Amino acid sequence: MSQRIHLACPGCARLNRVPEDKLDGATCGACKAPLKAGPVHVDDAGLDRLLRSSPVPVLIDFYADWCGPCRMLAPHLETLAAAHRGELIIVKVDTERHQRHASQLGVQGIPALYLAKNGQIVDQAAGFRPAPALEQWVRPHLG
Ligand SMILES: [Zn+2]
Repeated sequence: MSQRIHLACPGCARLNRVPEDKLDGATCGACKAPLKAGPVHVDDAGLDRLLRSSPVPVLIDFYADWCGPCRMLAPHLETLAAAHRGELIIVKVDTERHQRHASQLGVQGIPALYLAKNGQIVDQAAGFRPAPALEQWVRPHLG
C-alpha cells in the first residue's frame, strides 16, 4: 500500500491526503486545482485552516515581492519542501496582501519564518538562510 502524504492545495489552501505514488496529476478534492509538493501561497484564512488541520508541522514564510532576501530564500524553501514532502508543509504569506497573521505574530522584518506544530508556533527565524541551515532548523521539529 502506498503511503499517503499531506499536501496543501495551491488553489484553496485545503489539506489533501494523496497516495505518494499518485502525486503526478493529483488534484485538490475541494477545488480541483493541481496539487504540487512545493511551497504554496496562502492568505490569512487559508493559513488559519491549515494551522487547525495539519497533522504535520507547517513552516510559514512571510515575504513580499519587493524583498530581495525573500526572493533569494524562495529556491531554498523549494529544496526543503522537496526533501520533506509529506512531513512538512511550507506556505508563503504575501505580507503586502495578507497582514493579519504577520501582525499578530509581531513580524518586524522579512523574510520571517515561523514553524507551527499542532496549531502552535514552536520556533521562528528571521532573514535569509540557505537550505542546509533551514534543514538544521526544522529537523528537531520533524517526525
Ligand atoms: Zn483546493
